[in-house]
Amino acid sequence: MIKRICRQLGFLRNSKYETQYLNDTNIRTSIYMSVVIIALEIWMLIRYVDKRPGLTFMEYFDGWTNYLILLSSAVIILCFGIRHKIHEHDLHRKRCIPGLVTGLIFFILDILLFARFIHVRKDKMNFGDLLDASKYLLLLSALILAYLAFELLFYKKPQRSAAIYGQFLNVIFAVICLGFGCETSISDVSKERQILCFVTMVIYAACLLIWKPYVSFIILSASFLYFYHDWEPIMKANESPYAQKILEANQINFFTFWIALLMVCISIYQQRLMEAKKDENLTKAHSIMKKLAVEDELTGLSNMHQFAQDAELIMLESPANRIYLFINVDNFKNFNDKYGYQAGNEFLKTTANIIKNGFPGDPVARQSDDHFAVLTTTDNLEEKIRNIRKQVTSLHQDIYVDLKVGSYIPNMNLSESTVLTSTPSGSTIELRAAGKVIDPHIAIDRARFACGLIKNKFDKHYMEYDEKVDKDFHKRQYIVNNIDNAVSNGYIKVYYQPVVWSDTHTLCSCEALARWIDPEYGFLSPGDFIPVLEEYRLIDKLDKCIWEMVCRDIRHIMDAGLKPIPVSLNISRLDFELMDTPSVMENLVQKYNIDKKNIHVEITESALANDMGELQSSLSRLKNDGFSMWLDDFGSGYSSLNVLKDYNFDVLKIDMKFLSSFEKNDKSKVILNTIVELATHLGMFSLTEGVETGDEADFLNQIGCGRLQGYYFGKPMPLEDIISKIKDGTYVIKRLE
Ligand code: C2E
Ligand code: CA
Ligand code: CA
Repeated sequence: MIKRICRQLGFLRNSKYETQYLNDTNIRTSIYMSVVIIALEIWMLIRYVDKRPGLTFMEYFDGWTNYLILLSSAVIILCFGIRHKIHEHDLHRKRCIPGLVTGLIFFILDILLFARFIHVRKDKMNFGDLLDASKYLLLLSALILAYLAFELLFYKKPQRSAAIYGQFLNVIFAVICLGFGCETSISDVSKERQILCFVTMVIYAACLLIWKPYVSFIILSASFLYFYHDWEPIMKANESPYAQKILEANQINFFTFWIALLMVCISIYQQRLMEAKKDENLTKAHSIMKKLAVEDELTGLSNMHQFAQDAELIMLESPANRIYLFINVDNFKNFNDKYGYQAGNEFLKTTANIIKNGFPGDPVARQSDDHFAVLTTTDNLEEKIRNIRKQVTSLHQDIYVDLKVGSYIPNMNLSESTVLTSTPSGSTIELRAAGKVIDPHIAIDRARFACGLIKNKFDKHYMEYDEKVDKDFHKRQYIVNNIDNAVSNGYIKVYYQPVVWSDTHTLCSCEALARWIDPEYGFLSPGDFIPVLEEYRLIDKLDKCIWEMVCRDIRHIMDAGLKPIPVSLNISRLDFELMDTPSVMENLVQKYNIDKKNIHVEITESALANDMGELQSSLSRLKNDGFSMWLDDFGSGYSSLNVLKDYNFDVLKIDMKFLSSFEKNDKSKVILNTIVELATHLGMFSLTEGVETGDEADFLNQIGCGRLQGYYFGKPMPLEDIISKIKDGTYVIKRLE
């Protein structure tokens, strides 16, 4: 409560912004005031001349003293105010020179004026006259000295002094106005004129400028008391009854006027303060928004938008030796899992700082998650990277975290297919279009791509985007940009690889494997496009197309009067996120009127890791719908046994890696044997992939692995080849799945 009252009365400190706001308002007001006063004083000077025709210039000059002094102070305030307004946002030392010179000229002028005043009257002047004349001059000198001091201080520290001295100048200006008002009105009263000058000046100084309430109180009280003190004896000395009546009435009027003015001053102050607060909040909100637009909230680094702008400017101004870096925190996901989200954020902040300090003066941004972008030079690059890695790896000794860095040297020879993605300034767009500046987003994308190539290589931490990488990168971009085209133009083909019974080697089923035969790139194998399509979440486009082709082929075979060969389809985990896979499958078998037993669904073991149950229910739905469910690549990951426990598969496809050391290592035979037994115990059939020799096939038959697939029996091939091989007896069908 007390604090509130103190605040209302202006005893508490205002915020920096509020002070600045009030000060600015005062400076603006004092500009208007000084203009009005200058006009008024010029008018007074002219009037003085008009009323006293025939005097010499020096005689006029002598009579002008008071007016000239007020005029000087108004000119100085005007100079100060205008200078402050014009150069508010561009405070530069040179700017104060005109103000300094004007101040000095007026100071000298007024000293001369005062000297002349004394010189002319020296014979008949008493102490009272001298005091009267000095009053203005003292105030004016204080104003000028304050002004000069301000300018000097400003000259030394341009940023600091505006607020304090602006206020100080206003005080002195107000005091000069009030002093002038009092003195003029007292002189008017003694000539039985009205006291309007005092009233005007009081309103001027107290209400137009904004003061803290207690300052208003002091200013008003002091000027009223001062005026009353000089005015009362004059009125008392006037013997007319009219003067006595005025004296009596004015005592009350004075008091009322003083109170009314004080109230007005306080309310103006409160109103302005409220405006200042509102304005401050708006400015704060604006600056937060502005910050958010260019800054990464978590780390305080630039965001990519800002990074791109900075990078483009640097590339235009000093492109020599520049290199873009993409930095990825390796194993950050596990760090997050182990220590939690909060600690993860702290870790990212610290890492951001390390990177920022590791590349002083270079643009550094957080691209997303645990990815950072840097534009630096190639000088000492290795050392700089070693240095930041060392700091990051030593942050947490009990968990492996490291940095992987991909780099891209902006070099237009690598590729002509620069894509324009962002649109900052017109000039850079033209330059980019002319191939001179590469879009930083694309540069970072390339560095990121290079970084991705060493993702799972524990011994590699730095990878440069070179020509070979560039080719891969463009192939990737081509894949992403052309998958729709490839699907609609029939570049996607299905190849079928036979699966045989291990005892008779007769055909049991086929696996459908995708191929992309492209007019530009030629033959693309799944290893080229499947991971890319998965990364860009486009795999559903391919899979839907393959499944449809397979169903159409089966229908085709049936229509030709042949027995349909069951086909296994590969399903990506993402298919379940990107579409309602069970419904798509159901619709296809209905559309082509195929028995579901002819379709097997293969899902790789690694797809099932970290499943929260959604996948499990989709797989159960497929199984319940009547599709045979096959677990692909068993043994290739870490979660093999858990998967067997949690899911219900019909066939276990044993990964081909177990056959890779078949000849040299007897252990793989033991393992294969165990897996086959395990599958049998769990009620599953087993199939081994990658069979390339007769020995392998014999061994697998002996241990009871019922189905075999591999180059020994046939590579993936077009449907026509399979059909003709059936026709020519290469593949015999005795019993199918
Ligand atoms: P996968 O499902 O494990 O397919 C078996 C892969 O092993 C095929 O490679 C096949 O050509 C190859 N292979 C078969 N027998 C042998 C052999 O005796 N020796 C050797 N060295 N390799 C053999 P491909 O066709 O390149 O497919 C690679 C992977 O791409 C597939 O592995 C599968 O995961 C994925 N894929 C292929 N087609 C599709 C598809 O239509 N959709 C999805 N989602 N994935 C597919
Ligand atoms: Ca497969
Ligand atoms: Ca496989």
